[in-house]
Amino acid sequence: MTIKHHLSDPLLMGYAAGTLPEAFSLVVATHVSLCDECRARLEAFEAVGGAVLESETASMSEASLDACLARLATPVKAARRAARTGLFPAPLADYIGGDLEKVRWKPLGMGVRQAILPTSRAASARLLYIPAGQGVPDHGHRGMELTLVLQGAFRDDKAHFGPGDVEIATEEDEHTPVAEAGADCICLAATDAPLRFMGLVPRLLQPIFRI
Ligand code: ZN
Ligand code: ZN
Repeated sequence: MTIKHHLSDPLLMGYAAGTLPEAFSLVVATHVSLCDECRARLEAFEAVGGAVLESETASMSEASLDACLARLATPVKAARRAARTGLFPAPLADYIGGDLEKVRWKPLGMGVRQAILPTSRAASARLLYIPAGQGVPDHGHRGMELTLVLQGAFRDDKAHFGPGDVEIATEEDEHTPVAEAGADCICLAATDAPLRFMGLVPRLLQPIFRI
C-alpha cells in the first residue's frame, strides 16, 4: 500500500490531545494503523503533549488535573499498527464489531450505498460504497470532511486517492468524486461543523508550535 495523501498536523495534534470528535478520531486511528509516516508524527506530538501536560500539572489542582486527563481519554484508542483479518483495519473493525458482513448498507441511488455509524453528535461517521466508475453527486462542505479509502480508488477535481489515502476537504472545497474502474470503492468518511476540533489544541500546543 503506497499512501500519498496523509493526515494534517492539526488533526494528529488534536488526536494526541484527545480533542477530536469521535468520528474524526476513528478516521485518524484507522489511517494511522495503516501509515508509518503519520504514526511517527503522532508519536512525536504525543511526546510533546505529555511534556506540556507535565509542566502544567505541577501547578494544577487535583480536580482540574482529573478534568484534563478525562479530556485526554480518546474513545478510539487503537491507533497502533495491528494485523487485519478482513477488509477493515483493526480500529474500524473494533469500532463496528466486525468486518464488511456487519455493515447495514442503505441505498442512496445509482448503486451508491452508505451506512451511518453510531458516534457522538459532534461529528458524523459513515461508510460509503461507490460502484467502480460511478460518481458521487457534486457537493460542498459545511465543515470539514475526511474521507479514507479502504478499497478501490476515487478521483476528484484535485487528485487520485487509493487505499489508505485520506482526503481532507474543507468549506472552500467543492468536488465531484468518481470511483475509478476496477474494484468498487469503499470509504470511511467523517464530517463536522467548521473546525470544532481545533479547540484545545491551540491551548495545549500553541506555545510550542506557534499555530
Ligand atoms: Zn499517513
Ligand atoms: Zn466531499
